[in-house]
Amino acid sequence: MKLVRARATGTSDWTPRMAPVDLVPRFQAQGYGAAEVARRRLWVEHKTGVRLDHVGACSIPTEQMRGNVENPIGSVQMPLGIAGPLLIRGEHARGTFYVPLATTEGALVRSYERGMVTLTRAGGATTRIEVDENRVCPAFIFGSVADAARFVEEIDGHLPALCVAAESTTRHGRLLRIEPRQVGREVIVTFCYHTGDAQGMNMIVKATERACEWLVQRGLAPSYHIFSGFSSEKRASAALLGAGKGKTVIAGACLPAALTRACLHATPEALVRTWHRAAIGHFLAGAVGCNAQFANGLTALFIACGQDVANVVNAHAGITNFELTDEGDIYASVTLPSLTVATVGGGTALGTSRECLSLLGCAGSGNAPRFAEIAAATALAGEISMAAAIASGEFVAAHEQYGRNRPAD
Ligand code: NAP
Repeated sequence: MKLVRARATGTSDWTPRMAPVDLVPRFQAQGYGAAEVARRRLWVEHKTGVRLDHVGACSIPTEQMRGNVENPIGSVQMPLGIAGPLLIRGEHARGTFYVPLATTEGALVRSYERGMVTLTRAGGATTRIEVDENRVCPAFIFGSVADAARFVEEIDGHLPALCVAAESTTRHGRLLRIEPRQVGREVIVTFCYHTGDAQGMNMIVKATERACEWLVQRGLAPSYHIFSGFSSEKRASAALLGAGKGKTVIAGACLPAALTRACLHATPEALVRTWHRAAIGHFLAGAVGCNAQFANGLTALFIACGQDVANVVNAHAGITNFELTDEGDIYASVTLPSLTVATVGGGTALGTSRECLSLLGCAGSGNAPRFAEIAAATALAGEISMAAAIASGEFVAAHEQYGRNRPAD
C-alpha cells in the first residue's frame, strides 16, 4: 500500500492510496430485509460460481438477524440430536429433561445419552450453582508505580459511586464488587457483576465503560483501556479454574457398582484407574483442568440453544472426578467454574435456539440458572460415558459403529 500526501490540505498528513475493493453490498438499513438478503446471496453466487441453495433455505425471519450478524446471506444448518432422559435434582433444574445437541460428530449424542440414562437409573444428578457472576477487567494507566498504588488504596472507597455509574446503563446488571491488581504502573480492576439471565458481556462492558469514565472525569485515573486481557473472555487460562467466570456449577451422582457394570460395562475400580491415568496425562500436558469431553457436550448444547459458542473456550475449563465410595460404588462429579450461559439476549431468541431452549423449559427470563444446571448435568453424563468407554475398551468400537462418515472413494 502506497502513502500519498493529502491533497490541498497544506498539512503533513499522509493518507494511504487504497486499491479499489469489491465490498459486500450493504443495501438500505444495512440490508436485513428478505429481498436484500437474497440479493446479497445472489451477489456471492455470481462472484464465486457456488450455488447456495442450503444456505438460502433459511427459516429465521431475516430481520431478526439484526444484532446477531452483519451482511447476512442465509443460515447454516447443523444436525440436531436429542439425548435423554436426564433426571436432575438441582436447585433450579428439577425433573427429567431431553437435551438437544447440535453436532456433526457421530457417537456424541449416543455417548451423552448413555451417560444420561445411567444417571437417571441411579436416581439422578444433583446440581448446584456456587457463584453466579461475570466480569470485565479494564486497565488504568498511571505515570508512576506510586500513583498506581495510591489508586489501588483508594478505589474501593468509590464503590458506591461506581455502582451508580455502572448500573445507570442497565436494568438487570448489578455491580457486586471491584478487585484492583497492580502490575507495574498499571492497575487492572476486575469489575464483577450479576448479569441476570443474560451472558452479559455487552451489558457489563457498557456498564464498566461508564464506571471507568466516572473515574477519569474526576481525575482519579488519567486513562484506561476497557480490555486488559485479564478477564479470560474467550481465552483459555488458569484463572478460569481458580477464580471462575460466569456461573460456577457443580454436578454429581453416586452410581451403584451393579448399575455401572450393567449400563457402562465397567467396574467402579476400572473407572477410577482410568481417571487416575487421565489426570496424569492432563498434568503432563499442562491442561487447564481435567475432563474428558466438556467441550463436546457444551459446544453441541451451545449451538442448539443459541449461546455464544466461543465461550466454550472458557466453559470447558473444569474438573471431573471419579471416587470409589466405602460401599464400592462410584461417586462421579463435575465442576465447571466458568460456565457463561444465557436464556435472554445474544442468539437465544432466534428460531431454533428458542425452540431448543423451550424443550428444556429454559426460554426467556428467570431461566438461566436452570439452563446452567442442565448444562452441568449434561457434562457429567458425557464424562461418565466416555470414561466408561475407555475403561471397557469400547471407545474405538463405538466410534466405528456411530462416528464414521468416510467420503466415497
Ligand atoms: P445482549 O443481547 O447484548 O443484551 C441483553 C439485554 O437483555 C440485557 O442487556 C438486558 O437489558 C436485557 N434483559 C432483559 N431481560 C433480562 C433478564 N432477565 N436478565 C438479563 N438481561 C435481561 O446480550 P448480553 O448478554 O449483554 O451480551 C451477550 C452478547 O455479547 C453475546 O451475543 C456475545 O456474542 C457478545 N459479546 C460481547 C462482548 C463485548 O465485549 N461487548 C464480548 C464477548 C461477547 P438491560 O441491560 O437494560 O438490563
